Amino acid sequence: MGICVHLEDILEEEIKEGNKVTREYEDEWTNESYSVRLKRPLNKNNRDDYLAISPTISYWENKDSHYMPGKGYYCKTCKHTISGPLYFDY
Ligand SMILES: [Zn+2]
Repeated sequence: MGICVHLEDILEEEIKEGNKVTREYEDEWTNESYSVRLKRPLNKNNRDDYLAISPTISYWENKDSHYMPGKGYYCKTCKHTISGPLYFDY
């Protein structure tokens, strides 16, 4: 199983920019059926246009440490998520 078509462009772009997949998991959270976690924070620059033409995708940030903090994109149609940490973690 791979990331859905709505999010694959973002994932591809991140990999191209040097980001790396650290984890892939399914059904870990009730509102996500498939998730990809990246090593570096996702680049949000220049993505506003992309979000505007893709109403199924929303951007989110989670700063609640009870859950895995991070930020990323969520596809409402497929319940897929792509996320990375909030900040660079050196
Ligand atoms: Zn999708």
